[in-house]
Amino acid sequence: MEERMISGELQGAEEEIELSLRPETLNQYIGQDKAKENLSIFIQAAKMREEPLDHSLLYGPPGLGKTTLASIIANEMGVQFRTTSGPAIERAGDLAAILSSLEPGDVLFIDEIHRLPRSVEEILYPAMEDFCLDIVVGSGPSARSVRLDLPPFTLVGATTRAGLLSAPLRDRFGVHCRLDYYDTAALRSIVERTADIFHVGIDHEAAVEVARRSRGTPRIANRLLKRVRDIVQVRGEDTITIPTTQTALKMLQVDDEGLDHIDHKLLVAIIDQFRGGPVGLDTLAATVGEESQTIEDVYEPFLLQRGFIQRTPRGRVVTPKAYEHFNREVPGS
Ligand code: ADP
Repeated sequence: MEERMISGELQGAEEEIELSLRPETLNQYIGQDKAKENLSIFIQAAKMREEPLDHSLLYGPPGLGKTTLASIIANEMGVQFRTTSGPAIERAGDLAAILSSLEPGDVLFIDEIHRLPRSVEEILYPAMEDFCLDIVVGSGPSARSVRLDLPPFTLVGATTRAGLLSAPLRDRFGVHCRLDYYDTAALRSIVERTADIFHVGIDHEAAVEVARRSRGTPRIANRLLKRVRDIVQVRGEDTITIPTTQTALKMLQVDDEGLDHIDHKLLVAIIDQFRGGPVGLDTLAATVGEESQTIEDVYEPFLLQRGFIQRTPRGRVVTPKAYEHFNREVPGS
C-alpha cells in the first residue's frame, strides 16, 4: 500500500512512537513562541490563584502539536490529563460519565471538538460555565431535571479550524491559541531531538533537508525521519546524511517543496482539467477522489500558505508558481 505522509490518522504502533516523542514541558516544546509565551503566563497566574486554567481552545492544521501542548498544560499545572475526541462521544450520557469522573483541576482534552454532536455540546455549556451537569432523570410526565456539581476542571479543545466551532461553544473558551506552521529552524531542532531519542546520528544539512520538506509540520518531520532512519539501518550506516535523506524522500514521493503525490494530483487537476480554476472545493474533491474536508483541513492550508493556490469567491485557482513548479508555461505569459 502506498504510504501517505500527510494523513492525520495514526495507527497503533505509530501512536506509541508519537507518545515517546512528545515533549513534556513548555521548555521542551519547540517553536510556537507566541502560544508558549501566553500559555506560560496564564498557567503561572492560575497556579498562583490556585485555580484551574481557563478553558483553552487550540486550533491549527493536524500534526502541529495541539495534543502535545494540551498534555504539557496538564503537566505544567500538575494535574491529570484525560483525553477523548468529538467523534468518540456519541451521546450526552457518554460525556456526563467522563465529566463526573474528573478530579479537581484535571485537564480534559477533547480532540476534534468541532465534531461533537449538538446534543452533547449542550451539556458542555453549563459544565464549562458553572461546573455543573443538568441531567434529565426518568421519562414522560415524571421526568425531571437534576443538577449535579462537578469539580472545577479545564477543558482543552482542539480543532483544525476555529471557524468550525459553533459560536456558543467558541465563546466559552477563555484562551484561544492558534498554532502556525513551523519554520525550518524550529523543525530542524525537532528533527535533531527525535534523532537523539532514536539514537541515530544526523548531519546538520540532512536535518535541514528533512525539516525543509516537512510541510512545516512536526508530525511529518518525525515520520520522514523514521523512514530515513530505516534506510540508514538497512545500509548498516550510523549517521543520516544528505544522500540517504534524498533517496528516502524520493522513495516517499516528497518533492523539493515538501509536496506529496496528493498535492500534485490536486494542483495538476486544477491546471489540466479546470484550466487553472476557479474550481469549487467539492468538484475538486470528486475529481481527485479525496474528501472535501481533508482537502480543506490538511492539503489546502499549506498550498495556500506557500502560494501555490489562492481562494477566490468562485473557487480555487492555481498561481503562476504552481505552473512553474510543474515546468508548465504560465497561461497568458
Ligand atoms: P496535533 O494534536 O496538532 O495533531 P500532536 O500534538 O499529536 O499534533 O503532534 C504530533 C507529533 O509532533 C507529536 O508526537 C510530537 O512528538 C511532535 N511535536 C509536535 N509539536 C512539537 C514541538 N513543538 N516540539 C517537539 N515536537 C513536537
